[in-house]
Amino acid sequence: MGEKAYKEALGFQTRAVHIGNEPDKDTGAIKRPITMANSYELPYDPSVLNWSGADKNLYTRNGGSNQQYLQEKIASLEGGEDCVVLASGVAALSGLFFALLQSGDHVVFSSVTYIAVYRLLNELLNNKFGVETTIADTSDLEAVKKAIKPNTKLIHIETPGNPTLSIADIEAIAGIAQEHGILLSVDNTFASPYNQRPIEFGADFSVESLTKYINGHGDAMGGSIVGKKKYLDIIRTQSQINLGGTISPFNAWLIMRGAVTLPLRMKQHNENALKVARYLETVQGVRFVAYPGLESHPGHETAKRQMHPGYGGVLSFGLKADHDTHNKFVSYLKIITSAVSLGDDESLIAFLGENDERQYLYPKEFHEGFFRFSVGIEDAEDIIEDLRQAFYKTGLKQ
Ligand SMILES: *Cc1c(COP(=O)(O)O)cnc(C)c1O
Repeated sequence: MGEKAYKEALGFQTRAVHIGNEPDKDTGAIKRPITMANSYELPYDPSVLNWSGADKNLYTRNGGSNQQYLQEKIASLEGGEDCVVLASGVAALSGLFFALLQSGDHVVFSSVTYIAVYRLLNELLNNKFGVETTIADTSDLEAVKKAIKPNTKLIHIETPGNPTLSIADIEAIAGIAQEHGILLSVDNTFASPYNQRPIEFGADFSVESLTKYINGHGDAMGGSIVGKKKYLDIIRTQSQINLGGTISPFNAWLIMRGAVTLPLRMKQHNENALKVARYLETVQGVRFVAYPGLESHPGHETAKRQMHPGYGGVLSFGLKADHDTHNKFVSYLKIITSAVSLGDDESLIAFLGENDERQYLYPKEFHEGFFRFSVGIEDAEDIIEDLRQAFYKTGLKQ
């Protein structure tokens, strides 16, 4: 067995620790250093180099050592051939769309997606560059089939979807896509590769906001695209080198360090979120709870097939209360912080009001204000106690 095959046969936790790291050849340090350089020394005759290439260390926008180490680790965790890491999750998504699509192409995308995906596909690429788009409820396979046209090039789904936690069946949609010669990309940010690996179910691309679970410490931004090398080469040339959404070596190094504990953190996120979701279901003043790990979730059976061992740390819920009471409730929380990110070590909650223009695309319980709650890795009992005392102060029935 070659060294690469040997490494790929290792377990997920072992790969999270080791892939991309080796003792440093110059110093013997057990961790590879951060290389804060914008350029690399040129060979004797530099005119032979391809200035727009990524095969040699040349200039950090073309590629650098810390990016490469992180790419190795993420490709391995997602179970894909190759990886490009970029400056943010949105840089990864826009990089993917820019490299794959051209005017006249048609895209089908989930009615529940990250807001920048909606803006990119439905407004920017559509209005500025003539890329046609159709929004489909991708939790409904018939709706996906109906949305396909002769010029459909890509289906882009998000599962679980931000912020409703809607679930799409990756394997079934990959089957539909393959039948029509269409590419499938999956935004895997909410699950992380610990719980779900879209490429194993036939997706062509798995996209992550590394800012969230993979870094996990709320102190860096990054994004990744994993898939076949033949496509990743195009994405690297067009979207990294020529659009320039390069990740900094320092952020790549931070995310590399964060990713080492991804499996341990996800275990705790999965466990805590399920406990919190079950608790919220018992509270009378709670209007609804959406979490794919709950039997009451409409996508639970599909989630059970494709998410393992857990369902991630994000859930949504609403109160039987008016707009301002939701804000009051958050102001009473002591350890749960009000902030928009998710997947951090600490619990974060965001009140998403009523004025999202896409709300009509969501199930009706989301047409009123609701919370997106990223359950952290604190003690579950402390998180639940924090919610309990805030319900009490708000005057909501428990
Ligand atoms: C946060 C997020 C993104 C965007 O990632 P950034 O790193 O903030 O650019 C994309 N998709 C999902 C599902 C997200 O939650």
